[in-house]
Amino acid sequence: MGRMADEPRYVTLAAARALECNGCGDCCDSRRTDGYWTWGTLPADQYRPLFSGRPLIIPLVRLEAGWADRVHKPADAGELSATRFRCEAFEPHEDGTGGCGIHDREVPAKCREYPVGGANVEADLAAIGEHALATSAFPRCTWFQMTVVRDEDPRADRS
Ligand code: SF4
Ligand code: SF4
Repeated sequence: MGRMADEPRYVTLAAARALECNGCGDCCDSRRTDGYWTWGTLPADQYRPLFSGRPLIIPLVRLEAGWADRVHKPADAGELSATRFRCEAFEPHEDGTGGCGIHDREVPAKCREYPVGGANVEADLAAIGEHALATSAFPRCTWFQMTVVRDEDPRADRS
């Protein structure tokens, strides 16, 4: 019997890394997950060196009237974990997807590594034999519900 749509899919690291981002854009803006998806700790320079000296990642606050930009204060205790954000390089498309306006240049390491390129994926594979990709908030993501397993794992999808 085939895999149900809502079942996790087990893939090798090579197979997962061979896949391509489909440009849904859902990981590029916290508003697309109603504030669930955050940047984490935002550096004081907001990646200005990657964006012609202008702030690239803009922290957001949710007000009664909706989302608004806020001044970045890295010393705030709240900055240590979750920064809701938008990205100045994100280019929305009419169909609801989007593109990265600096994809052909250097992007923040988080963007380059998400969701399967980070060292934490390899570390988990070595330590516990699997790594569930952090894509549960993004049903449209190429890597939605995927877990990376070792090459020899019998669960690995070989279809
Ligand atoms: S730099 Fe590109 S990939 Fe990173 S959040 Fe902005 S638009 Fe998305
Ligand atoms: S959620 Fe996945 S498919 Fe969509 S832009 Fe991000 S990495 Fe690409």
